[in-house]
Amino acid sequence: MSNSLAGTEIDWARLQRSLAIEAEKGFLDLQGRQYCFSEFLQLTFQQAPASLPLRLRSQWQKFAIEYAQYPKLGLAQRQHLIAQTRSYLLHLKKDLETPLPTLKPLAESNPEPITSKTKPITRSPQSSARSVTRSQTENSAKPITRSQTSTKPGTRSTQTVQSSTQGWSGLSLNHALGQVSGIGRHRSAQLAKLGIYYVRDLLFYYPRDYLDYANQTRIVELVPGETVTIIATIRRCQCFSSPKNRKLTIFELQVRDPSGGIKLSRFYAGGRFSNPGWQQKLKAQYPVGATIAASGLVKKNKYGFTLDSPEIEILGSPDDPIESLKIGRVLPVYALTEGVSADVIRKAIAIVLPAAEQLSDPLPATLRSQYELIGLPSAIANIHYPPDTEQLALARRRLVFDEFFYLQLGFLQRRQQQRQNQTSAVMMSQGEVIEQFRELLPFKLTNAQERVVQEILQDIHSPSPMNRLVQGDVGSGKTVVSVFAILAAIQSGYQAALMAPTEVLAEQHYRKLVGWFNLLHLPVELLTGSTKAKKRREIHSQLETGELPLLVGTHALIQDAVQFQRLGLVAIDEQHRFGVQQRAKLLAKGQAPHVLTMTATPIPRTLALTMHGDLDVSQIDELPPGRQPIQTSVISGKERMQAHELMRREIVQGRQAYVIFPMIETSEKLDVKAAIAEHQKLSESVFPEFSVGLLHGRMSSADKDKSLNAFRDRETQIIVSTTVIEVGVDVPNATVMLIENAERFGLSQLHQLRGRVGRGSHKSHCLLMCSSKNPDANQRLQVLAQSQDGFFIAEMDLRLRGPGQVLGTRQSGLPDFALASLAEDQDVLELARKAAEDLLDPDHELTSVPTIKKELASRYQRLLGEECLT
Ligand code: ADP
Ligand code: MG
Repeated sequence: MSNSLAGTEIDWARLQRSLAIEAEKGFLDLQGRQYCFSEFLQLTFQQAPASLPLRLRSQWQKFAIEYAQYPKLGLAQRQHLIAQTRSYLLHLKKDLETPLPTLKPLAESNPEPITSKTKPITRSPQSSARSVTRSQTENSAKPITRSQTSTKPGTRSTQTVQSSTQGWSGLSLNHALGQVSGIGRHRSAQLAKLGIYYVRDLLFYYPRDYLDYANQTRIVELVPGETVTIIATIRRCQCFSSPKNRKLTIFELQVRDPSGGIKLSRFYAGGRFSNPGWQQKLKAQYPVGATIAASGLVKKNKYGFTLDSPEIEILGSPDDPIESLKIGRVLPVYALTEGVSADVIRKAIAIVLPAAEQLSDPLPATLRSQYELIGLPSAIANIHYPPDTEQLALARRRLVFDEFFYLQLGFLQRRQQQRQNQTSAVMMSQGEVIEQFRELLPFKLTNAQERVVQEILQDIHSPSPMNRLVQGDVGSGKTVVSVFAILAAIQSGYQAALMAPTEVLAEQHYRKLVGWFNLLHLPVELLTGSTKAKKRREIHSQLETGELPLLVGTHALIQDAVQFQRLGLVAIDEQHRFGVQQRAKLLAKGQAPHVLTMTATPIPRTLALTMHGDLDVSQIDELPPGRQPIQTSVISGKERMQAHELMRREIVQGRQAYVIFPMIETSEKLDVKAAIAEHQKLSESVFPEFSVGLLHGRMSSADKDKSLNAFRDRETQIIVSTTVIEVGVDVPNATVMLIENAERFGLSQLHQLRGRVGRGSHKSHCLLMCSSKNPDANQRLQVLAQSQDGFFIAEMDLRLRGPGQVLGTRQSGLPDFALASLAEDQDVLELARKAAEDLLDPDHELTSVPTIKKELASRYQRLLGEECLT
């Protein structure tokens, strides 16, 4: 079969399309009817095409090996590989083919003014006729309505830009825009609506996107959805009125390049069709045989490919430079506001751009060269008018670095201050109790656990307070790891507290710990809302005398009556479920206790670093051996019968099943209603032979316990539940989970839910019922079918739904970046973090770099708001 893929010739279009789709679909390795993406590429690269010269073959085949690894790669690596492949193919193609006519966009050396030698024959079509702007949105490269000034025949379309050169001399960063010639009072008032008042503001008003018209292509290689520039010859030019709308005149050019032909159309409002003068003018402007450059978004219509509302310019010859501000360039797209057109912003920026040279760069040259960052003036110039995508990437990298760098500096400085101001107990990181515990464990720690244990023990063996977050999937063994810290505290003569968000979870921890602690001859108690008054008093007094070394519990731990004698360590499970205040209250019960927080809902490292940059983060990214993967499938409503059959089969074999109604956005009520209705249906009509339990958030705590215990004791075979089940239910005999309306929920949350099965020795199943017909919803859920890796899943969630959705209620505190993407800029973030660490390490006060210190003072506050500094 592979021969159908890797023929003797290179199918460029197919390869490129495949890469484009994969990138577009979020690097999921899904596409394709016969093959998934990586298989297709692997097969393609395995067999070097006959036309490939020997010198080029080895790299070609190397890609086969790389794509064999693709399914195992992390997101960033996948992106990188694809970028590499694309650029390789690009170069290869260039190598193999006769060179394309060269495009020479103007203003190659930004921020030089966009000037041109005057060349009277050429003219942009837009200058003579007003095109209809069909939509206000700009991202599909719609023609931009020009100002009414109709350019006289023979003048350049770039006139506006040219004439504004006069205003450049003496332009300073602090000039109000109204004073800048070429911008004027009217436009500056418009810009003020966007909060842009000064030249400097405008320079830092970054584009939100780009249209890559620098991407020059042959007609045969057009791929829908890409923005491109073609160079072609006019074969035919005609005007006619639209068959659908008589008021609309269509101007159509048929053009060809050596590879093929397409039709380009523009639409004009009004009955111009009946105006022969207008038609003639247009035809004279686009004579048959003339060479054009056209840029636009590639679209497919019933006649084949076309460019959507293309920008067109006549060239004297294929090698002539392009004069337009748009065609053949990487065109910035700005966030607009009502009344401010894209052109207003583009032109205004083109006018002030030379002032970027006056920007002083807070980063010293040594630091820039160490981290391979371009200077601030060029970065600003090229973020707006990049000569090509490579320059754009460099500019973006520099500015994204800045966004991360100052944030990390702020976090690290804050952490440093906390450390200096607070002294914690120094715990013994080795000792008898720890050794005993290691020996009584019936298993060997995983490498990841061992590594994290060492990180923690090292932290608490120092007088600066530990503040560490341990992330690890459900079942990765976080509890065991926290016990090492707890024991280190106890053997050093301190008390410890372990707090969990629900009674179920606290109880589970307690049960596990009591077993171990008995063997170690250490007392441990559980304190929750349901602890009886007598027991409660007993616990209080034992804590105060120091008799009780470890207390496990819920929010009950933060009550005022709970007083420790020497609280040295606090461990908090599922930390994101607690508020800042609750956390602080618990910490206040000791003298700067060491803090260990845990979460089974890992957030991608980029989010962790930007939200908790003053925390240390450890990851347990390995599961104990012998865990069976959970067979996960995405199913539709039609397959509900089969799902029920699977449940029945499992139950008949003695297993149990969950049916979950995850939380529906805001309304817990609706949830409960759905769960109750389903419970009735399942118990009465679908599974009358089994007993079906119910669990939801509106039940009393006693009823919840009863329901859960009945399930744990196998009195009920099925439990219908809302997401209250999410945290901490451990019934190893349950092997099936059916999740209704799965598409409504975040991947991480679904992954968390799924973790309720697959806890025993039997093979488990998770069925994700997708009620939406939207293919994207289905595809998103496929991530879960493909992966059991919480970190990968969280990262995909971040890519597919954005940080706000991933964090949900944890969103507060996320800084507002202008450019940086938490989904895509992890490598720059790591770099910025390292740079910040290296800088602060010998010089906490940043005295050696006053420019950075000053920039930090203004930026960090802006990013995180005042309260974060306290
Ligand atoms: P988490 O809190 O990360 O979900 P737990 O700490 O509750 O995970 O551990 C899950 C289960 O795995 C527990 O029964 C625990 O005893 C067991 N376990 C932990 N570490 C290991 C290991 N290295 N090898 C085998 N089993 C382990
Ligand atoms: Mg746990």
